[in-house]
Amino acid sequence: MDPLWLLLLLPLAVASGWYASRRENSKRSEITEFNLPSAYFRGLNFLLNEQPDKAIEVFIKVLEVDSETVEMHLTLGNLFRRRGELERATRIHQNIIARPNLSNSQRLQALFELAQDYFKAGLLDRAESLFLELADAPSHAEQALRYLSQLYEQEKEWEKAISATQRLQKYSERDISPVLGQYYCELTDVCLEKREYEKAKAHVDNALKVDASCTRATILLGNIEFKMGEYRRAIDTWRKIEDMDPRYLGEVIDSIVDAYRELKDDEGLWAFLTNALDDYGGPKLLKAQVEEIEHRKGRSEAVDFLTDWVRKHPTLHGLRSLVNLKKMEQDSADSESEIEPLQSLLVSMFDTDGMYRCRQCGFTGRTLHWQCPGCKGWYMQAPITDEHLIKQMN
Ligand SMILES: [Zn+2]
Repeated sequence: MDPLWLLLLLPLAVASGWYASRRENSKRSEITEFNLPSAYFRGLNFLLNEQPDKAIEVFIKVLEVDSETVEMHLTLGNLFRRRGELERATRIHQNIIARPNLSNSQRLQALFELAQDYFKAGLLDRAESLFLELADAPSHAEQALRYLSQLYEQEKEWEKAISATQRLQKYSERDISPVLGQYYCELTDVCLEKREYEKAKAHVDNALKVDASCTRATILLGNIEFKMGEYRRAIDTWRKIEDMDPRYLGEVIDSIVDAYRELKDDEGLWAFLTNALDDYGGPKLLKAQVEEIEHRKGRSEAVDFLTDWVRKHPTLHGLRSLVNLKKMEQDSADSESEIEPLQSLLVSMFDTDGMYRCRQCGFTGRTLHWQCPGCKGWYMQAPITDEHLIKQMN
């Protein structure tokens, strides 16, 4: 139903209250000042002439908000907000708040609705100040703090997001420490960009304190240790991902290789790559191993290794790597390429290397977002594997 037509019910609600109150107190001034029927029809006229804003104005002016009509005004405002008519929603909610005779709980409810109008309209400063006020009211604290966390996420004000979420923890039944961990990771990222490694370290320690199983924090801690020249420690940190969530081992594989190189520990690197590939597989680990073989023993050895690997582990990404490597081998031999059509076919059909998908909303892209751009969920994206593809094709 068009919410405007709810306006038609408002006079009825008021009228019933009006007659009741007139019986009790014929001198009650606020309502008796108005000639109810004529104003009502004037508003109705505007409504029928499709001049909804004028209709709202007349109704709001005539029909004072009092305890009997607050609920209906609130409902009307919410309907407008849901339809995206934010200016109308805002006007109705502001009008409620301006009434002096509201009960405390009615006032808080109207403030909460108005704060949501502002939030949805992108008037974040106004929304923030109302939500902050509501966060001190036990009846609305939890909802207000949830909105505040969202608002600070949008604004990338991570310190404030942390303090809102810490307050929210008192009310929330769900464990929200993983989200808190992500906020500390965001702060860590900011410091890493500015090369403030000590500060970054403090933030990442906090992330791991609130969420010891945070893969992202573990990656970041390794990055900081690497930047500080602690290569062995960085390797040990990154390798914890093997136990935490090996899907993400591919994200640090190049860094682990770099750290072994800095240490000039060729044996350690070889042992690590071989074991990791056997244990976890995946395109990035395979690529690192193949590159290492090529680096040490040349391309034809690498092709042999990969051919053997694909035979034992028939995966699409393995096949793709093999075709690519074969093509490179041919290109360098300067012969006519017979592989190119096969390569482009494989790429167009299954080019998912380095792609990530959100398990909550399905958002897919080539960048790993710790907060999904689609559904705003944290830690929802993971690398796409051949298994995903095969499921999709079935
Ligand atoms: Zn998502």
